[in-house]
Amino acid sequence: MRKPAIEGGEPVRKTTLPYGRQSIDDADARAVEAALRSGWITQGPAIDAFEAALRKVTQAPHAHAISNGTAALHAAYFAAGVGPGDEVVTTPMTFAATSNAALYLGARPVFADVDERTLNLSPEAVAERITPRTKVIAPVHFAGGPADMKAFHDLARDHGLVLVEDAAHALGAEVLGKPVGATGDMATYSFHPVKHVTTGEGGAVSAHDPQHAARVKRFRSHGITKDAKERGGEEPWFYEMVDLGYNYRITDLQAALGTSQLGRLDAFVERRRQIARAYDAAFKDLETLETPVETPGTRHAYHLYPIRLRLDRLKTGRREVFRALQAEGLGVTVHYIPVHLHPYYRQNLGGAKGQHPVAEGAYERLVSLPVFPAMTDQDVQDVVEAVRKVTTWYAR
Ligand SMILES: *Cc1c(COP(=O)(O)O)cnc(C)c1O
Repeated sequence: MRKPAIEGGEPVRKTTLPYGRQSIDDADARAVEAALRSGWITQGPAIDAFEAALRKVTQAPHAHAISNGTAALHAAYFAAGVGPGDEVVTTPMTFAATSNAALYLGARPVFADVDERTLNLSPEAVAERITPRTKVIAPVHFAGGPADMKAFHDLARDHGLVLVEDAAHALGAEVLGKPVGATGDMATYSFHPVKHVTTGEGGAVSAHDPQHAARVKRFRSHGITKDAKERGGEEPWFYEMVDLGYNYRITDLQAALGTSQLGRLDAFVERRRQIARAYDAAFKDLETLETPVETPGTRHAYHLYPIRLRLDRLKTGRREVFRALQAEGLGVTVHYIPVHLHPYYRQNLGGAKGQHPVAEGAYERLVSLPVFPAMTDQDVQDVVEAVRKVTTWYAR
């Protein structure tokens, strides 16, 4: 048995491998330069092209690009009609943005627990949380594994709710035989550098109802419409503000990068899947951890590869294993501290331990391993070696 670096052994890697990183190529750089020299800096033709490309990959009839994934959630909830006193039911196993966006609108995020197998929002738990004030159900496709969309479609239909998928992890994933975003009401995306494609900062909302799409589009630019036909204005300078929107615009430079990146989405997701299959195979015989599952009939996009430690099979806790993996040169992280346990949520929204036992129990055992398309086969081997070495050393 080889000694882990943290116990004085040789580390697997000399330099740290991050958990995620963008892939930028010459075509991306040329696309941005062309936009930069085109005369349009913001809100020009590159946005239209990016939105057309987004409609194509999501198979949604409408898509609007926006300044970031958090703004996309804010816009989608707004378009769904969420306002003060309303409730948005979502998962605690997510980035705080999913529920924060409801707070921006004066609404109350209501958490429901997750499914033990997938760590996705549990439809049964959601059903128990629906009240007359509920407006939106907001599942997150955790780590890139699609949520149970059939069940959420049924719940939304039966209760007259709007379904907003936080698909920040799931661009390129498939569920019900279609890309994420192709069904349901709205889906939101993030183009932060660790996500599947990047625009630096950026986001988008895809929508099926043209009214939702129109509200998202206005929301990103102060709630202003210039569409005289739509509003009946005659003057040549016509524009009017009809909603309280924000400046959530994305730039042409970013959109040009996004279009170029989307051209490689399939290759990016395929490489992520290949890495995930390599990890699945390499860790199959380890009794010290559980690997993420791909639900049959879905295509997992592996934004993350979160393993769950079997603490009953280890002599040490998650913190020590985490530190030991860091010492081997892995940029491991934890997704996520359940949102209801953050101080803000405890103090202002009554969040407390024990409310969502499945999410809380999973949190104690989670470690996200590096996965991104630019990883080399050697990088993948390093992760495998480090995880096997550390978990074998500390095995009971
Ligand atoms: C990244 C992320 C967001 C926020 O996206 P930004 O572009 O960083 O604002 C929202 N929800 C989830 C689940 C995310 O992972």
